[in-house]
Amino acid sequence: MAEPTSATSPLPSLPASSPAPAGTLALTFDDGPHPDSTPALLDALTAAGHRATFFLCGAQAERHPELVRALDRAGMAIANHSWSHPSLPGLPPSAVHDEIHRTNRLLAALTGRPPVLFRPPFGDTSPEVRQVAADAGLAETLWDVDPRDWDGAAPDEIVAVVAAARPGDTVLLHDHGNRNTVTALPAVLAALTTRGLRSTVLPGH
Ligand code: ZN
Repeated sequence: MAEPTSATSPLPSLPASSPAPAGTLALTFDDGPHPDSTPALLDALTAAGHRATFFLCGAQAERHPELVRALDRAGMAIANHSWSHPSLPGLPPSAVHDEIHRTNRLLAALTGRPPVLFRPPFGDTSPEVRQVAADAGLAETLWDVDPRDWDGAAPDEIVAVVAAARPGDTVLLHDHGNRNTVTALPAVLAALTTRGLRSTVLPGH
């Protein structure tokens, strides 16, 4: 018979090389996959022992299915970021439906399971868009921290903003071939690790 857990039970010890985690946050990468950035981002995450969520565009996933499989095999979460990256609230309902469902079908075929999270392009959403996503089994997920890598932020600016993120934050980054994000990521991960913060996949995965 197992002993009941008590407050005086010894805590499991962590490997000496790992700082005790002070908490987790969620790095997220939008717009991929892209051959100029996905492999490097994945290498940096894996080497540092962090995980992230990749909000993929269906059109990109169709062009580079091997990159989707590589992300999935490495334990990264795969999520839906529409097919062609339009601003969805301006589209007819049938087009919104196609953007979301077509991407879901492709990602499910590539990974063996349907995505559970959705991020609307540009963060542009509406009650109608949210409802189409919900009907597809997707929860809408935006972000808390935006280092503006999409707007040409320099690597040291990206590092400074992400390194100041708090436990529980969701951080917006991009995987569309941008070199500054690729250059910044190892330093971002080192800064988080130093603070005892680890990036993990978003809840639902
Ligand atoms: Zn995007």
